[in-house]
This record gives sequence, C-alpha cells and structure tokens, in this order.
Amino acid sequence: MAKILVFTEHAGDGVKNVTLEILGKLEGHSVDVAAIGDIGSDGLTNLAKYGAENIHVLKGGDLDQYSPEGYANSLKDFIGNGGYDYVFAGSTSLVKDVMPRIAGMFDAGMASEVVNFVMDGDTFSGTRPMFAGKCLAKVEIEGPKPHFITVRPNALGMSDSPKAGAGNKNDVSAVAGEIKAKIKEMVKSDSDRADLTEANVIVSGGRGIKNRENFKILNELADLLGATVGASRALVDADEADHSMQVGQTGKTVSPSLYIACGISGAIQHLAGMRTSKIIVAINTDPDAPIFTKADYGIVGDLFKVVPALTEELKKIL
Ligand SMILES: Cc1cc2nc3c(=O)[nH]c(=O)nc-3n(C[C@H](O)[C@H](O)[C@H](O)COP(=O)(O)OP(=O)(O)OC[C@H]3O[C@@H](n4cnc5c(N)ncnc54)[C@H](O)[C@@H]3O)c2cc1C
Repeated sequence: MAKILVFTEHAGDGVKNVTLEILGKLEGHSVDVAAIGDIGSDGLTNLAKYGAENIHVLKGGDLDQYSPEGYANSLKDFIGNGGYDYVFAGSTSLVKDVMPRIAGMFDAGMASEVVNFVMDGDTFSGTRPMFAGKCLAKVEIEGPKPHFITVRPNALGMSDSPKAGAGNKNDVSAVAGEIKAKIKEMVKSDSDRADLTEANVIVSGGRGIKNRENFKILNELADLLGATVGASRALVDADEADHSMQVGQTGKTVSPSLYIACGISGAIQHLAGMRTSKIIVAINTDPDAPIFTKADYGIVGDLFKVVPALTEELKKIL
C-alpha cells in the first residue's frame, strides 16, 4: 500500500481546513500528517478525527519562523527518511512557495492545484483547471516517487462522516540547514477574518466600489455573513485595496460556498480566481457585464443601494 503523507499548516489552535478535506478524501488509506512546529489541541483532535494515523511534528532551531529553505530542507529529509510515496498539501501561499522546491530536490513530479483526485489502489490521478479555469485537465504523475500533489482549498469539501485514525503524535527533531534569506519581521494582519483561500463566504469589491472608504459597506455585509472581503485587481492597482485581498489570476484563487461580486465586471483574469465558487452572486449596474454570464444570481443595480439594503434584510433574519 502506498505510503501517504499530508503536510499541514497551523491556523490558530487548529490546522487549515484543506488538510481535513484531503484527509477525508484519502479515507481507506493509512495516512500520516506532518507539521512544522507544535499543533494546538484542536488541530490534533481534528487530524485524528479525519483519519490521521501518525502526526509528526518537526521541530528545530531556525524553524520557529517560516523560511522557504528551512522548511524545504527539513521536510525533504523527513519525507526521504520516511519513504513516502505521495505527499499532499493544500495549495496555500506557503505551500506554493515550498512544495515545488521539495519536488525539485527529489527531481520528482508534482500535480498542483488539483480540485479533485482519486487514488486507484496505489495510483494517483486528479483533475485541475487550466486556461483560467476554462477547462479541466486530467493529471497523472510519472517518474520516481515521492510524488507531490497540492489541492485547492474548499474544492473537495469536508467529509460528513470522517473515519477516525489513531492520531499518534510524534515529535521529530529536524534540521533547517543553511538559510540564506531570513525573515526579520512578520507583521500580522489586524483582521480576524478567515484567509481568502480558506473562506467559506467572500464579499468582493471591484472598481464600482471606487475607494477604500466605501469598503465599509462591504465590511458590514461581511461581518453579518462571517465572510472575508476580497477585491479585484483594478482596486489593488489603484491602491484602494491591499494586494492580499486580490482575487484572480495574479491574486488568490478561491472556491467559497458563496461569492458576492460587487461592482466587478467579470474580466477573464478575475474569473480565473473565483469561477469555482459554488454560488456566485453579482451586483452590477451594467446588465451586459460578463460577470452575469457566470453568476447564479444577478442583481442589476447600484451597489451603494443594493448592498446596504441586503445588509438590512439579513439583519432581520441572522
Ligand atoms: C496579466 C493580467 C493579470 C490580471 N490579473 C487579475 C487578477 O488577478 N484579478 C483581477 O481582478 N483582475 C486581474 N486583471 C485585470 C482584469 O483584466 C480587469 O482589468 C479587472 O479585473 C477589472 O476589475 P473590475 O471588474 O473591478 O473593474 P472594471 O472592469 O472597471 O469593472 C467595474 C464594474 O463595476 C460596475 N459598476 C460601476 N459602478 C457601479 C455601482 N455603483 N454599482 C454596481 N456596479 C457598478 C461597472 O458596470 C463595471 O462592470 C489582470 C489583467 C492582466 C492583463
């Protein structure tokens, strides 16, 4: 049977949901999890609940803070020593940075951004969007193991009835190796909203929002829905929104259950980042805006009237 490892990242006291999505999908296989640095109790409980047999926690000097080299070196050693055949991880910013490095160190194949996969016995095959999401490609990996797979958050969904694993925790002493570029300071965002890539609901603003100040109406709606606020590149380029908020081809790829696009035209590069959302609601004054061709629900109207009205109505029921 293939030896499978899932790399997880911390999210507060827990772990990123995408790890649990992957574990649920791998039900029936014996799966280990690896993390760098201690995992909180919520995280350990959930990993076991969703099927992790062994939870390896890598610790060592210079691993307290993320560095692509330190993470790649320590994980490479751990994966090699463990003799893993497949290494899965959520396609997050950190993983996009570190996983290709590790695959390169092994001179091994990698399938990135898959939105679904099957393990037929010991053989992986998956699907991933291509050409800005216009088509789905089937991906298989050839060549020597280990093979690396990154999975888009929110694409698989959580298992409703996960099969638990033993969840044995094992501390591993790891070596970061030579780190040439060190991060001197990490500035945490003051927002307590979920990261865009993990968010279940997203309210996004485009050029129609005009400026930062006007985001307050989106923030109000987002607060009610427990949503994260995103933006189109038009606003980011105009410095009216932070780059961390950008959704699209050169921003973040998101797959929430609900995406509310406010004053966004629906350019192909924006659609590339959000078209796999389960339900898309578009609010736009232009009935011919391309976003309406992808929207499940469309409201032709001025967002400065529609969004506050929506917020008021939701306040009555939420
Ligand atoms: C290489 C490349 C990469 C790119 N990457 C990205 C990316 O990652 N993400 C991204 O978003 N874009 C990206 N773009 C830019 C993209 O092509 C578009 O220019 C951008 O998405 C447009 O943003 P927008 O929809 O907010 O603005 P616009 O296209 O100007 O649309 C604004 C919309 O708001 C509507 N509107 C105006 N006022 C109101 C109102 N009061 N109420 C309701 N609706 C109103 C208008 O009818 C219009 O449809 C990229 C472009 C290139 C070339």
